[in-house]
Amino acid sequence: MTYDPNNVFARILRGEIPCKKVYEDEFVLAFHDINPLAPTHILVIPKGAYVSMNDFTAKASDAEIAALFRTVGRLAAEAGLAEDGWRMLANIGANGHQEVPHLHVHIFGGRKLGHMLP
Ligand code: C5P
Repeated sequence: MTYDPNNVFARILRGEIPCKKVYEDEFVLAFHDINPLAPTHILVIPKGAYVSMNDFTAKASDAEIAALFRTVGRLAAEAGLAEDGWRMLANIGANGHQEVPHLHVHIFGGRKLGHMLP
């Protein structure tokens, strides 16, 4: 799938649409999901133009991949989720119900989550 430079997260990265920022560095941006499904619901996105885990794992540098996953773990810990547990999730493509075609990792926590079933 070709990357759409006008997808909503690309527009957030360009500052054209606001977000409730949690963290930003040269590789990643994290913000609160606009429609939270748990007391903590944060999205972590790479700054690079990646549609999903498909092209991210194939094309991103080790530094970009490390930054994304270290940020996910660190922000979960900083949100106080480590001890009681939490969930990370990335929807991928049509079968994965991905709505925004820019890779994003969801962090869910703050309550007992339902069992994950397909
Ligand atoms: O993984 P999926 O693509 O289905 O999720 C997209 C997520 O992006 C949704 O949880 C939605 O609430 C969130 N979103 C957002 N801010 C926007 C548009 C969508 O947080 N401006």
